[in-house]
This record gives sequence, C-alpha cells and structure tokens, in this order.
Amino acid sequence: MRKDDCIFCKIANGEIPSKTLYQDENFRVILDLGPATRGHALILPKAHYANLYELPEDTAAAAMKLAKRMAGTMTEKLHADGLNLVQNNGETAGQTVMHFHLHLIPRYKDDGQHILWKPNTVSEEELEEIQKQITE
Ligand code: 5GP
Ligand code: ZN
Repeated sequence: MRKDDCIFCKIANGEIPSKTLYQDENFRVILDLGPATRGHALILPKAHYANLYELPEDTAAAAMKLAKRMAGTMTEKLHADGLNLVQNNGETAGQTVMHFHLHLIPRYKDDGQHILWKPNTVSEEELEEIQKQITE
C-alpha cells in the first residue's frame, strides 16, 4: 500500500515532517509548500494510489467527506471568501506528484489567482457527438 520512492507516502505516514492540519487512520491534511493562496492545503491518503483512476471508490468517498469538513473549518478560521477544490490527474492535467491528493485552496477577494478556466464555444453537433462517445 506504500511506495518506497514516493514523497507523499513519506509525508502522509509521518516519515517526513509537515505542517499537519488533521490526521486519522487513513488520511493526513497538510499545508502546501508552494501555496496558491494563504492556507492552501492538501488531503493525502496514507495508502499509495497514483491518481483518481487508481483510487478505490470508498477512499474517494471518504476523501470528499473530509474535504467537506476541512473546507468549512478552513473557510471560517482563515476568514476566506470561498474555496476551490482542485484535483489533477496526469502530467497533462498539471499533476506533478504522482500520489493522489486533493487541493483545498482558500480564496480571498482580490487574491490575484487564476484557478478557473477560459470557456470555449461548442456546437450542438459537437455536444451530441461527445455525449455519444462517453455514454455509448
Ligand atoms: P499537483 O501539481 O501534483 O496537483 O500538486 C502537487 C502539490 O504538492 C503542489 O501544490 C506543490 O506545491 C506541493 N508539494 C510538492 N512537494 C511538497 C512537499 O514536499 N511538501 C508539501 N507540503 N507540499 C509539496
Ligand atoms: Zn505515495
């Protein structure tokens, strides 16, 4: 369940120190060392799964429950105006550490961050084609 050369395995299991906000049997929540905003935190499962594709469904459900609790606490205690949940899978999607993690990014009015995407346009035909491709 652990991967020897994985830094987040070592952090999650306490072999490398971190600024821990919460931990239990299955998860550790730490402050990110390259924060997007003040209080940017990461939810790490203690077991090694490279990404969302590998994550068991029950661990995914538990991670989201924990995210919900942490989001409320962090937003209140940090006096944030909102919070983004971000989760990257694969290098193309911006994943740099190949151990599943969920970003909790508190947002503040005028914090200057650009976490949301630039919307493109799409035709009705393209939408139908995509829908078919995914569902059939
Ligand atoms: P990703 O780009 O893979 O979704 O996110 C990786 C995150 O881990 C980045 O936000 C980066 O700042 C953070 N990070 C990388 N190495 C360390 C570390 O050793 N300790 C902590 N606390 N955060 C790290
Ligand atoms: Zn790992």
